[in-house]
Amino acid sequence: MPGFEFFGPEERKQVNDVLETGILMRYGFDGPRKGIWKAKELEEAICETFGCKHAQLVSSGTAALTTAMSALGIGYGDEIILPSFTFVASFEAVLSVGAVPVFVDVDDTLTLSPAAVKNAITAKTKCVMPVHMCGSMADMDALQAICKEHNLILLEDACQSIGGTYKGRKLGTIGDAGTFSFDFVKTITCAEGGVVMTNREDVYIKSDGYSDHGHDHKGADRGADLHPFVGYNFRISELHAAVGLAQIKKLDNFLAIQKNNHTALKNALSTIPEVSFRRIPDESGDSCSFLSWFLPTEESTKAVVAELKTQNILAGNFYWYVNNWHYISKWDHLKNSITLNALHPELKAAVMHHATKHFSASDAVMSRCISTAIGLTWTDEQLKTKCEQMVAVVKKVLSEQKANA
Ligand SMILES: *Cc1c(COP(=O)(O)O)cnc(C)c1O
Repeated sequence: MPGFEFFGPEERKQVNDVLETGILMRYGFDGPRKGIWKAKELEEAICETFGCKHAQLVSSGTAALTTAMSALGIGYGDEIILPSFTFVASFEAVLSVGAVPVFVDVDDTLTLSPAAVKNAITAKTKCVMPVHMCGSMADMDALQAICKEHNLILLEDACQSIGGTYKGRKLGTIGDAGTFSFDFVKTITCAEGGVVMTNREDVYIKSDGYSDHGHDHKGADRGADLHPFVGYNFRISELHAAVGLAQIKKLDNFLAIQKNNHTALKNALSTIPEVSFRRIPDESGDSCSFLSWFLPTEESTKAVVAELKTQNILAGNFYWYVNNWHYISKWDHLKNSITLNALHPELKAAVMHHATKHFSASDAVMSRCISTAIGLTWTDEQLKTKCEQMVAVVKKVLSEQKANA
């Protein structure tokens, strides 16, 4: 799954290009940088690779979400609908622009349930934010139709699905805007970094300014730039962009390896009739960074997790249901609205209201789901062993449970 597994001479060469000139910043210093513009080059490569008109690199995936929300005009009084299963960054970004995160259930796609989205729409809803979790996608046709009908913004958190597609279009380029994270454990990495992708020129121009203190980047030099609106500093450095430039050239290779390993593991687990798999709205577009699979009950899932642990092979298998970072059941800091800076009382009350709702439909899915991260460096032998071990664990647990029933 993560590009850091293939860090090599290509990344070092790109970083060294920057170190040679010493110009570590992406803007200005036109003379001394000797024609080296790694961030610009990576933005062009992103547009070409993923088929979007514009790309604005920033310092993280979280910053990309905040930047996109600001550029889309989302803020005070607005509600954003997002899934109960995501990484904490998704709601952190919503809070950062002063909007209300409205969580709704996921279905067996592990992403937004379109029916739950419909039910959550109010007069204040401004945006629907699907999160393409664990390498695969939400039902974009259904969500696009809802957004069109209700005149809502569609913002894709595609941080975990770099290289995935839906009906031929790259995830993250389908909505009004989409984001990737290039943090250290994502499919391709800059060490730290993120990007806002969009086909809307207005969103791009605002993202460009917002992520650099509101600079309009039209002056003869930085000091001569104007500030059409208040911004922030979410700049990426040239060093980080350089790493990403080497990584993006390896993406096709990463995806091919993921597909191969994912297929083998899926075929192995498919031999067990009690095991089922995540529903994928466009199977051919799965980036295959994870294989997400279901056991029949919460009890059998917990027993499989325990047995994987006992056999010391739990690493790389994620039981999100009890995970501190990815599922709403564990977000007590959010449920109690514990922030370091005081929130407006109205916002605080709304945050607590929405975060403490019950998500029984999500529980029913997440309590039975295990996601297995697909390694890039597994040898054929390791892959074979992994398949055999996992199948053996599942069979052992299921037969023990049958015997005890
Ligand atoms: C990683 C991730 C982010 C945030 O990315 P950072 O670069 O770590 O800030 C946002 N959303 C999802 C779903 C993620 O997995």
